[in-house]
Amino acid sequence: MRYSGLRVIKEALTGHKGWKPAWRDPEPQPSYDIVIIGGGGHGLATAYYLAKVYGQKRIAVLEKGWIGGGNVGRNTTIIRSNYLLDGNEPFYEFSLKLWEGLEQELNYNAMVSQRGILNLIHTDAQRDAFIRRGNAMLLNGADADLLTTAQIKQRYPFLNTDNARFPIKGGLAQHRGGTVRHDAVAWGYARGADQLGVDIIQNCEVTGFVMENGACTGVETSRGVIKAGKVASCVAGSSSRVMEKAGMRLPIESHVLQAFVSEGLKPVLPGVITFGAGHFYCSQSDKGGLVFGGDIDGYNSYAQRGNLPVVEDVCEGGMAIFPMLGRARLLRMWGGIMDMSMDGSPIIDRTHIDGLFFNGGWCYGGFKATPASGYVYAHLLATGEPHPTATAYRFDRFNRGLMIDEKGMGNQPNLH
Ligand SMILES: Cc1cc2nc3c(=O)[nH]c(=O)nc-3n(C[C@H](O)[C@H](O)[C@H](O)COP(=O)(O)OP(=O)(O)OC[C@H]3O[C@@H](n4cnc5c(N)ncnc54)[C@H](O)[C@@H]3O)c2cc1C
Repeated sequence: MRYSGLRVIKEALTGHKGWKPAWRDPEPQPSYDIVIIGGGGHGLATAYYLAKVYGQKRIAVLEKGWIGGGNVGRNTTIIRSNYLLDGNEPFYEFSLKLWEGLEQELNYNAMVSQRGILNLIHTDAQRDAFIRRGNAMLLNGADADLLTTAQIKQRYPFLNTDNARFPIKGGLAQHRGGTVRHDAVAWGYARGADQLGVDIIQNCEVTGFVMENGACTGVETSRGVIKAGKVASCVAGSSSRVMEKAGMRLPIESHVLQAFVSEGLKPVLPGVITFGAGHFYCSQSDKGGLVFGGDIDGYNSYAQRGNLPVVEDVCEGGMAIFPMLGRARLLRMWGGIMDMSMDGSPIIDRTHIDGLFFNGGWCYGGFKATPASGYVYAHLLATGEPHPTATAYRFDRFNRGLMIDEKGMGNQPNLH
C-alpha cells in the first residue's frame, strides 16, 4: 500500500478500516542467503539496500526485542555531516544526502527537518579549529557557515552570549543539518525492506553462531538454528556480547548515554545548538519538548538507564548557554547502550571468520549515519569490497595505527 495525502483522506472518510500492517510477521525459515543480526536502524537499512540496490534475495533481520526498541528509538534525533577527518566526512556527507531523499525513497514520513545545527564557539582557539573543520566540510561538498555573535543573537536571542566563563564568540553552522523522527526511521526502513521480501523476525535473539570448518554458516537463536550464506552483525551497544559468542574480542566498550525531554513549550528553539565548552546539545521537538543530552555516564554498562550526576552535568552545560532552560520542567529521561570504539569512529568490515561480517562502534553518532551505514554495509555484503566512502572503517586500522580520532582524545573510548 502506498501512503499519500489522498489515502489519508480516504481512510479518514471510511473509518480508517483500510490500513494494513506496515510489515509482515513471518516465521523464520530454516535458511537464508543473508542473516542480519539486530533490527535497529542500521540492520533494517542494510536489509533495505541489500534488496533494493544490490538485488539480493532471501534476507532476514533477526531482532531480539521489537523494531525500534534499541538506540534507533532512544537517540536525540540529530543529523549532520560536520566532521573534520578524511575517513569520516565523505561518509557522513553521503549519509546526509541519503537523508535528503529518504522520505520519497521510502514513501514514509520520517519528519526529516533540515532546521540547521549550530556549534557554538567560546574561545579564539576553538574558532581556529572550527574554521579548519568548516573548510574540510566545504572541500567534501558539504555546507558550512561561520557565524558571528551578532548573527547568532539574531536567530537565538535567548542565548547567554555574555557569560563571563563561556562567552559565545561565534559558531559553525551547517544549515542542512537538523533532526529526524528517530523511530519512524526504523519503521520506514522496516516497511520498505518488508515490501522487497525481507523477513523481519522480532522476538528472535541470536544466542550463538554455527561454525563449520572455521566458517560461519548460520546462527543459533531463541527460535532455533537458522543457516545463512552470510551473517552480518549489526547490534550497536550489544556488539561485544554478540561477537564474544564467535570468540571475538572487539576494540569497543559499552557505556550508557542518557537523553532528556522537557515539558512542551511554545516554539523557542528554531534549530539544533551545541555547547562548545562542555557537552550539551539541544533541539525542540514538534510537540514542543526540548530534547537534549550530554556526556555518557562514563563507566562500562549494558544498562539502558543512567544516573543522577550526569543529569546535573548535562543541565549545567545547558544552563551555561541557555539559562531559561532552568524554568522548564523535565518530563522524561532514558538511556541507551553506546558502542564506544577506541578512536570514536565506527567499524564496517568482514571479520577473520569467513561468512561473518561486523558493523558497530557508532559511539554517540550512529543515528545520523543510519542511511549510509546501511548502504555501505549492504555494498560490503553484496560485493565483498568496502564502499568508497567507508574504506577507512576497517578492523586493521587498530593494528596499523591508522586511527580516525575525530576528537583527538586517544584510545580512551569513554572520551570520544
Ligand atoms: C540517548 C542517546 C542519544 C543519541 N543521540 C544521537 C544523535 O542525536 N545523533 C546521532 O547520530 N546518534 C545519536 N545516538 C546514537 C545512535 O542512536 C546509535 O549510534 C544508533 O542508533 C545505533 O545503531 P542502531 O540504530 O542499529 O542501534 P539499535 O537500535 O540499538 O539496534 C541494535 C539492535 O540489535 C538488537 N540486538 C542486540 N543483541 C541482539 C541479539 N543477540 N540478537 C538479536 N538482536 C539483538 C537490539 O535489540 C537492537 O534493537 C544516540 C544514542 C543514545 C542512546
